[in-house]
Amino acid sequence: MRRSALDDRGGIITERGTDRVTVRLRIVAGMVSPDQLRGLADIAARYNVGLSLTVRQTIELFHVDPAHLMDLISDLEKNGTPLGSEKTEVVNVTACPGIDRCVFGLIDSLDLAKKIDSIHFGRDMPVKTRISVSSCPHSCMSERLCEIGVTGVVRPQRKSGDCTGCDNCTQYCKKGAISVKNGLLHMDMEKCILCGMCILSCPYGIIHADPPAYQITVGGRRGTSPAAGRHLVTVKSPKEALRVVGLVVEWIYRSAWDGALLSDQLNDLNFDRFKGRVLADLPPDEIETGY
Ligand code: SF4
Ligand code: SF4
Ligand code: SF4
Repeated sequence: MRRSALDDRGGIITERGTDRVTVRLRIVAGMVSPDQLRGLADIAARYNVGLSLTVRQTIELFHVDPAHLMDLISDLEKNGTPLGSEKTEVVNVTACPGIDRCVFGLIDSLDLAKKIDSIHFGRDMPVKTRISVSSCPHSCMSERLCEIGVTGVVRPQRKSGDCTGCDNCTQYCKKGAISVKNGLLHMDMEKCILCGMCILSCPYGIIHADPPAYQITVGGRRGTSPAAGRHLVTVKSPKEALRVVGLVVEWIYRSAWDGALLSDQLNDLNFDRFKGRVLADLPPDEIETGY
């Protein structure tokens, strides 16, 4: 099939061995209303195309006839499920349900994802830029394997009070980071992943924490050689998390080049110097040290 200007639109993917295309949608954090879903079913029937879910929380319409693309895109926009992105751009922003629905949630991942999407989605970038938010270190969104990841974290602390030695917390902690010896609670912060499960588990309120924080990683990768991104900074508020994500997007945009994964460029891009600049720019009382 001859390439057309439409091929350059981010969410349109040429299909293998046919003259049809797949259309990927922009759906923040997989949130889609019943009306939008009904609308999508109607659109799929109207254009006689298939529907499928993607691994990054969006939906694709496949086997679309290119002759119908402009009408289809217009119908998708009216449905509130516009054309998405899959090229070297900021692609679909993903997030777990977080404090909206998950008992382990620490931060409002959905709200943060919506804000990131509204500012950065679809921006042309030298490398494909995936941004994901997990509300706790269980990392259901594999955010650390993305170019930019945000993870909700919390640091447990022992409060004054009588620990009964009931061992509830040690059983909840899957990292073996807590032990109770002679009725005294010990925490090994080398093993602790900052998930906060022990706080939930203590019936006597002996373990508490400051408000959750936002840990930001850069340059994670998936595919054949998956690897976690590098820790950039941990900040105290969603406002600062949003600001740091913006700084990273701008840094990638200005410094990276195409043809190589961001993770392979971090040293050449002077990641450590960038990290130093971010730390110097942020208000010191917004940075969580020791995370
Ligand atoms: S990452 Fe944590 S908060 Fe989010 S869905 Fe998974 S367990 Fe729940
Ligand atoms: S925060 Fe999580 S990993 Fe750390 S001690 Fe508590 S349960 Fe264990
Ligand atoms: S759950 Fe609470 S009371 Fe029980 S051992 Fe742990 S800190 Fe002590």
